[in-house]
Amino acid sequence: MLLFISLKVKNKMKTDKTTTIDELKSEMKKFVREREWEQFHHPKDLALSLSLETSEVLELFQWNNKTLEELKKDPEFMENMKDELADVLTHTLNLCNYLEIDLSDSFEKKLVKSAKKYPIHLAKGKSDKYTKLHK
Ligand SMILES: [Mg+2]
Repeated sequence: MLLFISLKVKNKMKTDKTTTIDELKSEMKKFVREREWEQFHHPKDLALSLSLETSEVLELFQWNNKTLEELKKDPEFMENMKDELADVLTHTLNLCNYLEIDLSDSFEKKLVKSAKKYPIHLAKGKSDKYTKLHK
């Protein structure tokens, strides 16, 4: 019980502004190692789990047509969304750990690729897929 409370307090102090991805990856690695779950974590299964968790994010929108403001004021929706996004992050970090992927580097490189696919002068204010943007 004390450990739980200690973790809760420790987690409460974490914010996106004060936590690095490397810290989250280390925390994830420790969590897995303490439970000896490495034996179950084939990258394929982690990818399946990641896909399932993203579906759980989608499930929160099923039969729900609330506006952004309505969603943000719905405490049950917001709590469930936070949990599901954390699940998605958990499996993402796990995959990065096993495949030795530097997520920040991958993010930056992908953003550069996306910027080339969606140049501001062609994509600004449009929701078209890059294949439909005319040069
Ligand atoms: Mg979940």
